Amino acid sequence: MLRFATPVADASGNRRGILILNYLGKIMLDEFAAASIGLSDDIMLLNAEGYWLKGKNPDDEWGFMLNRPITFAGRYPDVWLRIRRSEQGQWQAPSGLWTWRSVYPLQSGTVSSTGTAAAAGPSEARVTSQGYVWKVVSHVSNDQLAALGARTTSRYAWIGATLLALLAVLSWLLAIALDEQSRARRLLERLATTDGLTGLANRRFFIDQVKQYWGSYQRRPDVPVGVLMMDLDHFKSVNDTHGHAAGDMVLQQFGRILRKSLRQTDIAGRIGGEEFCVLLRGSEVEGARIYAERVRRELEAEQIMIGEARLAVTVSIGASAFMPDDSIPTAAMQRADAALYRAKAAGRNRVELAESIPQT
Ligand code: GH3
Ligand code: MG
Ligand code: MG
Repeated sequence: MLRFATPVADASGNRRGILILNYLGKIMLDEFAAASIGLSDDIMLLNAEGYWLKGKNPDDEWGFMLNRPITFAGRYPDVWLRIRRSEQGQWQAPSGLWTWRSVYPLQSGTVSSTGTAAAAGPSEARVTSQGYVWKVVSHVSNDQLAALGARTTSRYAWIGATLLALLAVLSWLLAIALDEQSRARRLLERLATTDGLTGLANRRFFIDQVKQYWGSYQRRPDVPVGVLMMDLDHFKSVNDTHGHAAGDMVLQQFGRILRKSLRQTDIAGRIGGEEFCVLLRGSEVEGARIYAERVRRELEAEQIMIGEARLAVTVSIGASAFMPDDSIPTAAMQRADAALYRAKAAGRNRVELAESIPQT
C-alpha cells in the first residue's frame, strides 16, 4: 500500500481535514505476475538495493519493510553485481541464465515522497528519478535449459531475445502503472494549493508565496514587488438579490479576469470570500496601479448575465509595494489593505495607492 496524504484547507486557510489516497500496489504487482505467466516461472522485480518486490517465493518479498536481510543481492552476489551495473543484459551464470532490464518508477514525477525515499533504503534521504531504479529479472535454471535441449548458441540467443522483448513489455506495463501514480500525486498537489472556485492560489499557498517573494526581494531589492488588495463591491447584495450561485459565478468570472492578465512571475490568490491579492514582480506601486486600473475596468465592462439581465459588479483596489524596511513579509499587504479601505470610503469602484512611508 502506497499512501499519500495532504491537509485540506478552506478558503480562509483553516485546516478542515486530511485527504488520504491509498494506492494498492498489489494491483500493479499482480498485473506484473499475470503478465509474466508462461514466460518463465521465475520472473522477479527487485528494488535498487536488491530486495525482492515480487519474487518466486512470497517469503522473500519486501524484506526492507520488515527489516529482514533477505535479498537477491545476498543470495546471488555475482549475478547482482552485473544486474546492478548495467541497464539491461543477459548472463549465463553457474546458477542458470539471467536476463534483466531496468525500470525508473519515478521518472514521470520529479520528486519522490519521503515514503518512497525511505523504501529505497535508509542511507538515502532523497532520491532523484534517475537514481531510483527497479530491475525486472528473469531466471531460467540449468535444468530448464537442459530440458529445452538448448545446447546450441543459436538456441540461447533465441531464448535471450524473446526474454528481452518480454521484459520490455513488462517494463512498459510497470511504467503505465507508475505514471498513473504520479498523475494522482500531481492532482493532490493542485488540490492542496488551488482554490476550487476560481482556479487561483488558495489562501495558504498564497501566503507561502508571499514569503517566497519576500525572500527574493531581500536578496534582490532592486527588483520591486507590487501588491494589490482587491474586494468586490456590495457583494453581499449580489448574493441577496440573485442567490449564492450567481455570486459564485461572479467570483469565477473575476478569477478569469485576473488569471488572463497575469504574467509568469505574478501570482494571484483568493484570500477571503470575495477578497483577492496579487503580487507583481518587477512592478513598483505605479506599475501595480496601472495593472489594477485595467482589472477594475475589465470587471466593470464584463457582461455577467443572470438570465436576461446584465449584472453590474465592480471592485475596489488598494495598491502598495514591498519596502526594504518592512519587518514582516505581509507588511505591504497591510498597507494595500489600508488603501483598499480608503477606496471603499471614497465611493468604491476605484484604485487607491498606499501612502508612502517617509524616508528617515
Ligand atoms: P463592500 O463593498 O463593503 O465590500 O460590501 P460587501 O457586501 O462586498 O462586503 P461584505 O464583506 O459585507 O460581504 C461579503 C459577502 O461575500 C458576504 C458573503 O455572503 C459573500 N461571500 C463570501 N464568500 C462567498 C462565496 O464563496 N460565494 C458567494 N456567492 N458569496 C460569498
Ligand atoms: Mg469583503
Ligand atoms: Mg466586498
